[in-house]
Amino acid sequence: MVNKFFYYIIVAGFIIVLILGGIIFYQKNNHDLRVIFLDVGQGDAILIEQGSNQMLIDGGRNGKTLLEKLGKYIPFWDRQIEIMVATHPDQDHIGGLIDTLENYKVNAIIKTEAESESRTFKALDELIREENADNIEAEKGVKIKFPAGAEGEIIYPFSSEAAALGESNAGSVVLKLTFGENNFLFTGDLPSEKELILIRDSLALNSRVIKVAHHGSKYSTSEEFLEAVKPEDAIISVGKNNQYGHPALEVIERILKHGIKIFRTDEMGDIIYECKNQNSKCKIEFN
Ligand SMILES: [Zn+2]
Repeated sequence: MVNKFFYYIIVAGFIIVLILGGIIFYQKNNHDLRVIFLDVGQGDAILIEQGSNQMLIDGGRNGKTLLEKLGKYIPFWDRQIEIMVATHPDQDHIGGLIDTLENYKVNAIIKTEAESESRTFKALDELIREENADNIEAEKGVKIKFPAGAEGEIIYPFSSEAAALGESNAGSVVLKLTFGENNFLFTGDLPSEKELILIRDSLALNSRVIKVAHHGSKYSTSEEFLEAVKPEDAIISVGKNNQYGHPALEVIERILKHGIKIFRTDEMGDIIYECKNQNSKCKIEFN
């Protein structure tokens, strides 16, 4: 009787290992791309996943909120985030990154030389030093290749040191992600005067999806920029009833006037683009 009991336990264990192995194998070889604008309240956090490769752009304000969100989309056996990008050192972009560094192994960190006097920035800076991750200076021309075909490219700032001069939003990292005919433009909190510089510099702004800069502040997302990017969808990452009055009504009107659809994290929750292959349009879902 006892022998039979152990026999069943061993068989059950073997089946569980097989199933888990199958799931892990499937996840590693899955070439679908997912771009998820996480609803982290007032702030930005975007998770990009292809197979078992993840890139996290910003982390919102709060570590606990971000970890809960990451746990929903990254399988529990995958404790590694390949690339972390900090667009600029404001609290609503880097606050959540500290807990992420403490709970995941992060292989590479992309950020500019911009600094802040905040306790959060100092704590993050110290953790980054301890993490033993590759430190990559965020500046124009840096490319991030996903093994299964997606590619990210930094188009701003022009140099990492230049981003450290002046006001922090103005040094925001701007990154374009391309997966076949689908492209996404992530703009941090970039203000309008820098948008104009980008228009003069880059021919490749055209993107299907834009992450509206600075949570829809009226000091970003100029007419000229919308005309250069020509997005179909505009994502506004913003907290409900936030104290800053984001997003500005005039920005919403400006976007709608161009026939662009608006999706807001405070209304839709997490906004997910599921991209099956390079030749078809990503599908949008909400969670
Ligand atoms: Zn912000």
